[in-house]
Amino acid sequence: MNTSKRKGKQKKNRSLKTWIVATLILSIIYVWLQQKGDIDNMWPGTPIQDAAPITGLHPVVAENEELLIRKTARRGIEIVITHGYRSSDEQDALFNQGRSSAGNIVTNARGGESYHNYGLAIDFALRTPEGDVVWDMERDDNKNGQADWMEVVELAKELGFTWGGDWANFPDYPHLQMDFGLSINELKRGKRPPETK
Ligand SMILES: [Zn+2]
Repeated sequence: MNTSKRKGKQKKNRSLKTWIVATLILSIIYVWLQQKGDIDNMWPGTPIQDAAPITGLHPVVAENEELLIRKTARRGIEIVITHGYRSSDEQDALFNQGRSSAGNIVTNARGGESYHNYGLAIDFALRTPEGDVVWDMERDDNKNGQADWMEVVELAKELGFTWGGDWANFPDYPHLQMDFGLSINELKRGKRPPETK
């Protein structure tokens, strides 16, 4: 074999190796995106699981909502659940508030993008001894030296809720949710939490 032929063969081998490596990297990226749940946006053909329509709060969330109301009451705090399940249309209307309709912007989630749409979130407010519903995070009506709002949050966390006030980019202080480890993308694709804990 002369030198130029050998060089040609080396080149071929090298390009084959590059292809194998590139294919491998792309496969890894594909699997990673699929697990992350982002692939739907890039890959419209990904099958969406059939899921029964959601019409109310998830039973486990409803049960913990009741527990939260009782536990806070025992501490002398009355809470009001201002939002629970929200349909996709109701969510869209809320998203438009402060954008295409009047009012302040209250959410960054469109229909199908909020845990409320899957019956997995509730919003609370406080009822004062005078009977007013307030979103006051400082008041201490049970006079134990702790802000009532944060007492509610603490009890909610004990029950397994995550608190919207912990979100760095768009804190949502009245918001409590139970996501069962499911991302919004997974819920959108039809994944559902078990009916019991
Ligand atoms: Zn909420």
